[in-house]
Amino acid sequence: MTDLQLDDFKTDENAAMVLLVDDQAMIGEAVRRGLSNEENIDFHFCADPHQAIAHAVRIKPTVILQDLVMPGLDGLSLVREYRNHPATKDIPIIVLSTKEDPLIKSAAFAAGANDYLVKLPDNIELVARIRYHSRSYMTLLQRDAAYRALRVSQQQLLDTNLVLQRLMNSDGLTGLSNRRHFDEYMELEWRRSLREQSQLSLLMIDVDYFKAYNDSFGHLEGDEALRKVAAAIKDASARPSDLPARYGGEEFALVLPNTSPGGARLVAEKLRQTVAALNIPHNSPSEGSSLTISIGLSTIVPKAGSNCRDLISAADKGLYSAKNNGRNQVGVE
Ligand code: GH3
Ligand code: MG
Ligand code: MG
Repeated sequence: MTDLQLDDFKTDENAAMVLLVDDQAMIGEAVRRGLSNEENIDFHFCADPHQAIAHAVRIKPTVILQDLVMPGLDGLSLVREYRNHPATKDIPIIVLSTKEDPLIKSAAFAAGANDYLVKLPDNIELVARIRYHSRSYMTLLQRDAAYRALRVSQQQLLDTNLVLQRLMNSDGLTGLSNRRHFDEYMELEWRRSLREQSQLSLLMIDVDYFKAYNDSFGHLEGDEALRKVAAAIKDASARPSDLPARYGGEEFALVLPNTSPGGARLVAEKLRQTVAALNIPHNSPSEGSSLTISIGLSTIVPKAGSNCRDLISAADKGLYSAKNNGRNQVGVE
């Protein structure tokens, strides 16, 4: 529901649309005359009770005046029909009866009528009741519209929160998860692996000779190279539970839940080769080199009382030995 539609309801709340269903044209004429000088009251007359529902669906009355005795169709059955039809179920119905009879009266209310008048009532009373019922129906419509609008804006809020959450969790340069999200995720997966006694693997990835890369090609080129490495790391994370992240600066991490040392080693080795095959020109360690990465890898089945920092420092040690042993390789701890 848009605001415009809500406003429509607001401006129209004093207007009434009356549908009289009565087989007698004379009654139709009398009511028409009675309402003709009333401001804001539209009047429709339907002499054929079999057309009443279709007529009501078409003109959307705010009040129905319903005759009880008509040839071929009982007025009470028609009242029940209005109540069962989705388009008319809430429209106020004033029943017009020929007499003041408690039995008919209670049957009319039981069928779903909102009011009962002996016809023809004097004009002041008829107009007062039409206005009263019409107004309460408009209020109901307004309330429903407001609820619908509220639901739409609640949904928009949820969507916006999702977008914000994604922004809050991601690294601006590379689009990978940022350090904050990595820390959160590691805690979560560490606890899950502890519960399930499953293997949790972690890759710590660091770009080789990156200071020299910046010094030779400038920071903007350096940023571009980091984006390329990040894309390769993202491609290396095959499972939905794998989490590639920017750990800080030119260091990245890849969390691999439920992954054995052998499986993690395959992922790491493939990633190392993929980055080397990007053939990003570099002049370290020697002229004509390509940009490479070193990877530290560790796998742990968590024990009670241990901490996910244990896994991070183990992978860090692996990274340290990869660097010490000449870079562009995977170090396992
Ligand atoms: P090693 O092979 O031992 O890893 O040497 P290195 O030069 O890569 O290591 P070092 O830690 O000395 O240098 C990291 C460099 O990464 C220094 C820093 O300027 C650069 N760096 C960190 N974050 C960014 C970034 O967001 N953009 C760019 N362009 N450079 C960055
Ligand atoms: Mg480095
Ligand atoms: Mg570094």
